[in-house]
Amino acid sequence: MKKVILIKNGELVLKGLNRSTFEDMLIKNMRRRLSPLGTFGFTKAQSTIIAEPQDEEIDFDEAVERIKRVFGIVAFSVAGVTEKDLEKIKEAVMDFLGDDLRSVKTFKVNAKRSDKKFQYKSPEICREVGGYILSKIPSLKVDVHNPELTVTVEVRDKHVFVHGNQIKGAGGMPVGSSGRAALLLSGGIDSPVAGYMMAKRGLVLTAIHFAAPPYTSPRAELKVKKLASLVARYSGRINFAVVPFTEIQEHIKDNCPEELFTIIMRRLMMKVALRIAEQDKCQALITGESLGQVASQTIGAIACTDAVSTMPVFRPCIGMDKEEIISIARKIDTFETSLEPYEDCCTVFTPKHPRTRPTLSLIEEAEAKVDFEAMIQKAVSETRFCSVDGE
Ligand code: ATP
Ligand code: MG
Repeated sequence: MKKVILIKNGELVLKGLNRSTFEDMLIKNMRRRLSPLGTFGFTKAQSTIIAEPQDEEIDFDEAVERIKRVFGIVAFSVAGVTEKDLEKIKEAVMDFLGDDLRSVKTFKVNAKRSDKKFQYKSPEICREVGGYILSKIPSLKVDVHNPELTVTVEVRDKHVFVHGNQIKGAGGMPVGSSGRAALLLSGGIDSPVAGYMMAKRGLVLTAIHFAAPPYTSPRAELKVKKLASLVARYSGRINFAVVPFTEIQEHIKDNCPEELFTIIMRRLMMKVALRIAEQDKCQALITGESLGQVASQTIGAIACTDAVSTMPVFRPCIGMDKEEIISIARKIDTFETSLEPYEDCCTVFTPKHPRTRPTLSLIEEAEAKVDFEAMIQKAVSETRFCSVDGE
């Protein structure tokens, strides 16, 4: 039987404004995500988008897995397509959902008739199809309030779609609908989660990673790239930038007071990140910081880092406990990779007693003793770019 995917889009519907632009963005994202499996045609119909395969052999299980990770979708279902004929509908329901129906105890039939000219009204369709199902599987019971399986029959313009329970979508907004932002991506647990969360709000991601060779190894960089590719399964393609940060870090270490190392390093990371973000047309930065998690994530320390930023800095993990962040990391499958034990540039020169309440004037005074501007420009010009796709 011919199959299609019926997609219910999320907040778009509520937004009303620019709905069509949003839907087009969602379609573009789905088309790209499904393209390795074959070609799909997309049709907009009320609050549903219909994805129809143009090739014979499509791996629908894989298509479902991919659609589950596309933001902007509340729910979707794989539907069987049949003709506008009651007998054909009954057969299609048993053909398409027979196995599912045999594996449950209760069901109900739900009919939607957007073609008002179809000769049977919704209650009649429910009765007829429900009766047919019961005649084939007499052990089943109808439960209209809390059925294990809801059989939906949608009578539309040209065809009838039949499907079972809806599959939950990833929610959020289509990637691209909010613009682009630069994610400061370390090898840790938090920043990949932060990237995922902001992509869910419709941002395309540029990832910026600071590497400090030879203190950090090429394998540490590969790990971060792997994390980017896991996030890209949700966010779509990520522009990935690796910044050589060694020179700046060594100058901090040799010239600044030890208790200010971390905060000065973070301010310089921000400064470099802002330049790369601007080059790549980003409008915000994203970090994985969580309030109070470490010395550099107190209000005072965050105020000092934000003081150098000319862009908004999004910190979606700010109010989350580690446990909560970990549960998202597990869900998006970045957790195991984050745990791989490679060094990060942040941990290379960690001071013994970092200041948790740094004073901006002290920091600025310490920074003024070194000509960081030249080093920042060099780091930006030596940054390597590549693009990372989801696996
Ligand atoms: P994470 O688990 O994301 O590494 P963390 O709890 O280890 O976070 P920090 O190491 O203080 O915290 O880093 C805070 C944030 O700074 C990170 O979430 C990330 O956004 C950014 N960051 C830290 N190290 C790097 C790096 N090497 N390259 C890019 N961004 C970094
Ligand atoms: Mg870290």
